[in-house]
Amino acid sequence: MIVAERKPMDEIFQMLAGCKKVLVLGCGGCVTVCLTGGERQAEMLASQLNLAAKAKGEAMQVDFDSITRQCEKEFFDNLSEAPADYDAVLSIACGAGVGYMSEQFPKVTVLPGMNTTHLAANVALGIWEEYCRGCGDCMLAWTGGVCPIAKCSKSLVNGTCGGTDKGKCEVNPEMNCGWLMIYERLKELDRLDEYRTMRPLRDHRTDRGNGVRRLVLAEMTEEEAGDE
Ligand code: SF4
Ligand code: SF4
Repeated sequence: MIVAERKPMDEIFQMLAGCKKVLVLGCGGCVTVCLTGGERQAEMLASQLNLAAKAKGEAMQVDFDSITRQCEKEFFDNLSEAPADYDAVLSIACGAGVGYMSEQFPKVTVLPGMNTTHLAANVALGIWEEYCRGCGDCMLAWTGGVCPIAKCSKSLVNGTCGGTDKGKCEVNPEMNCGWLMIYERLKELDRLDEYRTMRPLRDHRTDRGNGVRRLVLAEMTEEEAGDE
C-alpha cells in the first residue's frame, strides 16, 4: 500500500493563506488503511484548522468530505460538496490523488495536505514499513524476497557496500543492513549461488529515467474503444 503522512500544521496554514473557505478531502484508499488520510482524519483536520483559525483571529471556514478514492474519476461524482464553492481543496490523499483531482477540476486550487512517502507493509500495530520502491524491474526472485532497492540505503544490486557494522547499515545504524538480510535469507533457502552471481547494472528507464510510467491493459482499452 501507499503510505502518506500529514504535513506539519504550519506548512498547511502557509498553503491556505488568504483562503476563506476550505474543503478538507479524505480518500478511502491506502491512506484510510494507514489511518492518515481517511474520513475520520479529514474531520479531525478540519476541526483543528477551524480552531486554529479562530485562535489566530482569521476568518476561515473549513469543511470536510471524503470519497472512496481520489485516483479514480467516477468517485468524484460522490462528492457531497462542490469543489468549485471553495477557495481551496486540501486533499489528504497520496500525491496521485492530489494530482489527479487537480487535473479533474482545473479551476479549483487543490493543495496537498500530505507527504507521500513509501510503499509499505503493515509490520506491527501502527507501523507501516517500506518494502518496495516501484523500480519497475523486480529482483526479489534472486534476493530471497528482500528488496535491495528499498532495504539497502544505497539501493545496491550486487551485494554489500562493505560498510555493514554488526549487521547494521553504515548510513543508518538503526536499520539492519539490507544486503546482510539478503545473504541470510538466501543461505536459509540454500540459494547462495544467487548471491554470487553478478547482476547487470540497473536500467533506470524502468524506474524514473523514461518519463511517466503507465499500466495499459490492452483488453480493457480495446473493449472501451469498441463501446464507443
Ligand atoms: S526490486 Fe523493485 S519492484 Fe521489486 S520490491 Fe524492490 S523496488 Fe519493488
Ligand atoms: S551497510 Fe548494507 S544496507 Fe547500508 S548501504 Fe551498505 S549494503 Fe546497503
